[in-house]
Amino acid sequence: MAQSVLAPGAKFTSYWWEGHDAAAPAVTGGSPPDKADVVVVGSGFTGLSAALTLARGGRQVVVLDSEQPGFGCSTRNGGQVGPRFGPSFAELSETYGEEKATWLKREGHAAYDYLVRLIQDEHIDCSFETSGHLLCAHAPGRFAPAAKAAEEEQKRFGIEAQVIPKSEQRREVGSDAFHGAILFPGGGALDPMLYHRGLLDRAVGAGAALFTGQRVQGIERDGQSFAVRLAGRTISARDVVLATNGYTSDATPWWRRRIIPIGSYIIATEEIDPAVMARICPKGRMLHETRKVVYYYRPSPDQKRILFGGRVALSETDGSVSAPRLHAAMVRVWPELKDVKVTHSWMGFVAFTFDHLPHVGTHDGIHHAMGYCGNGVPRATFYGHKAALKILGKVEGASEMDPLAFQTRPLYHGRPWFLAPSLAYYKLRDHFA
Ligand SMILES: Cc1cc2nc3c(=O)[nH]c(=O)nc-3n(C[C@H](O)[C@H](O)[C@H](O)COP(=O)(O)OP(=O)(O)OC[C@H]3O[C@@H](n4cnc5c(N)ncnc54)[C@H](O)[C@@H]3O)c2cc1C
Repeated sequence: MAQSVLAPGAKFTSYWWEGHDAAAPAVTGGSPPDKADVVVVGSGFTGLSAALTLARGGRQVVVLDSEQPGFGCSTRNGGQVGPRFGPSFAELSETYGEEKATWLKREGHAAYDYLVRLIQDEHIDCSFETSGHLLCAHAPGRFAPAAKAAEEEQKRFGIEAQVIPKSEQRREVGSDAFHGAILFPGGGALDPMLYHRGLLDRAVGAGAALFTGQRVQGIERDGQSFAVRLAGRTISARDVVLATNGYTSDATPWWRRRIIPIGSYIIATEEIDPAVMARICPKGRMLHETRKVVYYYRPSPDQKRILFGGRVALSETDGSVSAPRLHAAMVRVWPELKDVKVTHSWMGFVAFTFDHLPHVGTHDGIHHAMGYCGNGVPRATFYGHKAALKILGKVEGASEMDPLAFQTRPLYHGRPWFLAPSLAYYKLRDHFA
């Protein structure tokens, strides 16, 4: 029988949850009030960022989450943060023309700048570092296009990039699995749990009230305000922000039809010999590959473990199935980790959209910010803030996303039946790249 990759006592919960109480100290006790200026649904980065801006803007804010604070992706992610995510400039130009593509890209960069500024201004202690991101060419045919796209971004947007040929890549990553790489020195990393807790403390400190275990079952217009329906009661709110991203449910069907929830799977290893860590991650870079069906990985903030994530199944699965697959992918990059065990294996639902862009706006008077397509740490923070600014009536709430329709497709109701064939197609393309 094949030996298990799991360490004894391995957990199927987020590594970042280790050492943190499920109930954050800042959670408000008791039951939510009957009335609020604004109800925010979801207590991830989007919801808390919106709550912080609204509370500082003088609004009485109630944040509701059906689970514990940050139960969704915000305390499960890889913690890689950078300016250059999302569709390439060339892809955006094809759909929207060069001028709009330029502005869309700039807004993506502004999201990262906003995150970095917020962490600094609020003194959020979350192991944030400008560690540099390394985009590794997984196939010979992907190196030149990646280098060209990086040069384009550098020329147009000033995003610093260095093209690293295969002969020199070992100084950045201790692996021969790649065919060259692109280094983005400005990309960063953080501990998502600490960042979430920092944001939570700031939002509650500003006056927002957070209630957990409160599943919103529906939102209905009630004259000039909204009735937010919970089990057995309602809360009346002048405004509502929907910040449910990949966890958007049938409680809000219009949004559910526009969000494609996709599981992203990730493992954390046991502690690794420091000499091995220094060899495989000589500069502590954040790593990801040129595949369409992504792998992303990094050293933990204390540089003792590897966190390795990706999409390893055509249909959704669980941590016991994804762990050996992610472990095998990790060993493909670093064969010397073959005997290193997995201590945590978990997943979360990221939110894709039909146009591959995030969306912030309103429908029937209800505000939303969601659809970050797997790159949500900066975007959720930024678009949660934007949604709040819109409610506060500030011109800075305007977004390049405002004129873009939040698309759905006929017969789509929130269960992505097309996911398995699409993933199979992209995996084939990655294989033959
Ligand atoms: C494994 C993984 C790795 C990732 N890696 C990265 C990365 O390295 N870099 C990056 O930028 N992004 C990454 N992401 C994506 C990023 O984490 C998300 O985009 C971001 O956290 C989204 O934040 P959010 O607040 O919008 O949503 P979430 O954090 O998902 O929060 C949504 C909340 O809404 C609540 N909710 C839903 N419905 C209701 C309801 N009816 N009533 C009350 N509450 C409700 C849920 O309980 C949940 O807490 C990753 C995601 C995963 C899963």
